[in-house]
Amino acid sequence: MSEICQQLHDLFNGLPRHRFPFDELAIPRNGIYILFEKGEHAHGVDRIVRVGTHTGESQLRSRLKQHYMNENKDRSIFRKNIGRAMLQRAGDPFLEQWNWNLTTRKARERYLPLLDEEKQRQVERAVTEYIRQNFSFVVFGVDKKGERLEWERKIISTVSWCEECHPSPN
Ligand SMILES: [Zn+2]
Repeated sequence: MSEICQQLHDLFNGLPRHRFPFDELAIPRNGIYILFEKGEHAHGVDRIVRVGTHTGESQLRSRLKQHYMNENKDRSIFRKNIGRAMLQRAGDPFLEQWNWNLTTRKARERYLPLLDEEKQRQVERAVTEYIRQNFSFVVFGVDKKGERLEWERKIISTVSWCEECHPSPN
């Protein structure tokens, strides 16, 4: 698996790299995105740290905006995980509230009265700042939803089984 993973890394590292603020028109309407994080390396190049796609037709650009701009962690598991990592590292007990999923009305009725909303806004801002400064990405177009999901699954599988891809200690 390492050899195919090496090929994937070479391929994706060779594509035009996008960073915030990115040019939306340079991004296909349908496709897959591959994220890289500053300081993370594998196979002699930047390490693939996340692979993602979208389900709705023509939603690739808005999916990327949900990660980079929309300060709502319940609409982006990527944002949620970055926030988790930051809170975990800081030993911050707000982590418990950050894990609440507030997308349903029922959950909001139950949790909103208990939520430290100012703190939540602060963490959302910190996540946005971190993502904008540390993550870059490449994209490639795949028009059909079934094919997008298949490629996403295959790439994630290859990278996660690879014995040479490891997160840095930090
Ligand atoms: Zn690898």
